[in-house]
Amino acid sequence: MRFNDYPLSENILKALEGLNYDEPTEVQSEVIPITFKGRDLVVKSQTGSGKTAAFAIPLCELINWEENKPQALVLTPTRELAAQVKEDITNIGRFKRIKATAIYGKQSFERQKVELKQKNHVVVGTPGRVLDHIEKETLSLEKVKYLVIDEADEMLNMGFIEQVEAIIQSLPTERMTMLFSATLPEDIEQLSKTYMKTPTHIVI
Ligand code: AMP
Repeated sequence: MRFNDYPLSENILKALEGLNYDEPTEVQSEVIPITFKGRDLVVKSQTGSGKTAAFAIPLCELINWEENKPQALVLTPTRELAAQVKEDITNIGRFKRIKATAIYGKQSFERQKVELKQKNHVVVGTPGRVLDHIEKETLSLEKVKYLVIDEADEMLNMGFIEQVEAIIQSLPTERMTMLFSATLPEDIEQLSKTYMKTPTHIVI
């Protein structure tokens, strides 16, 4: 398969060309077609497999540019990963002018609050800070249709399970959820059973 075999607009294909993404990696060729069917997904894959673009490409395509409130929420275990994911989404969504914002700890809450007041299509963040913004009502989630839980095993290892669950519980139930993890221990299977709708499992 090639990227132009998928239902991707010209502006996304142009961005992929600019990034020298000539063909989909394995995880991308498994994940992308399923996202266009709107199915929930549990993906076992390692960093370095191209997993970020596997969710960033369909997200950028599916997002409605006109909507001002966030439509996608990506949870990551670390600040570094949040910043990286934001950058990848910004690059892939460049010609569609997709706006992504990263929110994480050890950075001014007030500055993030100002950013969150502006137009945002995607919010990427670490669980603690995302929950902070939810509790202080500075992050609006009512339009979120896509949830990505990235490096889920790391997130659970770092003790974020309660925060992750609290965040999921404050999201609209009418949504697509994608979970990515290098390993799939019992607590992750449990999380997916509780909060996902008969997810398709992909093992890379
Ligand atoms: P990740 O697994 O998301 O950390 O991605 C690993 C690296 O692969 C990143 O540097 C991406 O920019 C790169 N990458 C992702 N998808 C592709 C692709 N289809 N072709 C070439 N490089 C890619």
